[in-house]
Amino acid sequence: MTPPAAPTMAAGDAVHVGRRRHVLLFPLPYQGHINPMFRLAGLLHARGFAVTVFHTQLNAPDPARHPEYRFVPVPNGSPVPVAIEDVVAHILELGRACEAAFRDRLASVLEEYSRDTVACLVADAHLLPIFEAAARLSVPTLALRTGSAACCACFLAYPMLFQKGYLPVQESQRDMPVLELPPYRVRDLLVIGEDGGGLARELITRATAAVKTSSGLILNTFDALERRELEGLRRDLAVPVFDIGPLHKFSPAGDSSLLLPDRSCLEWLDAWPPESVLYVSFGSVACMSARDLVETAWGIAGSGVPFLWVVRPGMVSGPADHRQQQLPEGFGAATHGRGMVVTWAPQEDVLGHRAVGGFWTHAGWNSTVESICDGVPMLCSPYFGDQMGNTRYVEHAWRVGIEVGGNIERGSVEAAIFRLMTHEDGAQMRTRAGELKKAAAECTAEGGSSCLAVDKLFTHMMSL
Ligand code: UDP
Repeated sequence: MTPPAAPTMAAGDAVHVGRRRHVLLFPLPYQGHINPMFRLAGLLHARGFAVTVFHTQLNAPDPARHPEYRFVPVPNGSPVPVAIEDVVAHILELGRACEAAFRDRLASVLEEYSRDTVACLVADAHLLPIFEAAARLSVPTLALRTGSAACCACFLAYPMLFQKGYLPVQESQRDMPVLELPPYRVRDLLVIGEDGGGLARELITRATAAVKTSSGLILNTFDALERRELEGLRRDLAVPVFDIGPLHKFSPAGDSSLLLPDRSCLEWLDAWPPESVLYVSFGSVACMSARDLVETAWGIAGSGVPFLWVVRPGMVSGPADHRQQQLPEGFGAATHGRGMVVTWAPQEDVLGHRAVGGFWTHAGWNSTVESICDGVPMLCSPYFGDQMGNTRYVEHAWRVGIEVGGNIERGSVEAAIFRLMTHEDGAQMRTRAGELKKAAAECTAEGGSSCLAVDKLFTHMMSL
């Protein structure tokens, strides 16, 4: 892991008339949202802010792992989702379910800390009711969006996408370019549910409202990666935009993992030559069918490439009693000596390991950024949400990976792995990923764009 380069700020910077300033945080309780929020917490704490984390009972953080922060539990009351359609409904429900209890706890915290020492609340943009509750108590807010700038632009453009007929998606138009949002095609747009309407529209409308009513937008991206998209956001939004990514290079989030990472895989990786191992992980939410698990397994086995594969508990979809989590019979013997399967990996360290030469990912935004910043080219199998759009950027804009889409078949998996790990194409993608890795390091170094954005964010927060 590269040591945090830039914001070498002295603790105690965030002081107001002799008293330390507080920043309040509220993450959405999903791994891909918790990690960037805790990375941000580390960054702000290093700047001298006292950090208070409000959190739901669902996926509650372990305070013992972060003795430097204060934690305030907020009852959320809603059941844990099981299917992805439920996740969207659940995200919408969570904010509402927490609102009243959050308002009470926020009021107590404000009384305890003394009003003028509280700089602001930074909340996940999916928690609109939390923004509204804070506004009612006159606490300034900043919105953290954990996706790309391009995805944020897509959210803002949602009404236009319906007006111009790009949405709802028509099968015959899936490959049509979205002229207003290049390089997206219709198939790359964020669509949740069959018609792209209903819940998706509500999710997007509310997240957009949270951004617009906040006093600033924080994004885990960087100028060299999304300059044009960031310029677009600055043009379209009335609030300042802080592109302070890659956050994990400022402040690792290892301790915010909900599952226990199996660190023995790092030792296992030590035995392999540089860039020889394929790392396979589809993040914390995506589920595959039992059939796709089998095709994935035999595709990996048939490629002959050494691999480290994360097979997460609950990763196989279907009725609970039909979930076949286990790998196909014979897979262990066929890959003996060249593969390791773990339930959760220390991903940042894995991607930074010299033995890892490729990443087969679902193209979640954190995974995409982490891969890019370690110069690792990707195979992308997007499942839902922003993952199709991220895949489009990986393949078409940055040209650091290729899509393995559609029906997963062992033959096409083998061919894609071969192309990424062994073929000249893969070598070129690795070279380009290496260039982006360098650009990311420059952005986070002193005087780099992200480092300057952190300074601006800090000044902004102190002025609220
Ligand atoms: N992650 C991890 N170990 C794993 C798989 C994922 O630590 O075995 C982390 C990964 O580093 C990333 C987050 O979990 O920070 C997943 O976020 P992402 O946006 O990529 O996908 P999501 O889980 O939200 O779909």
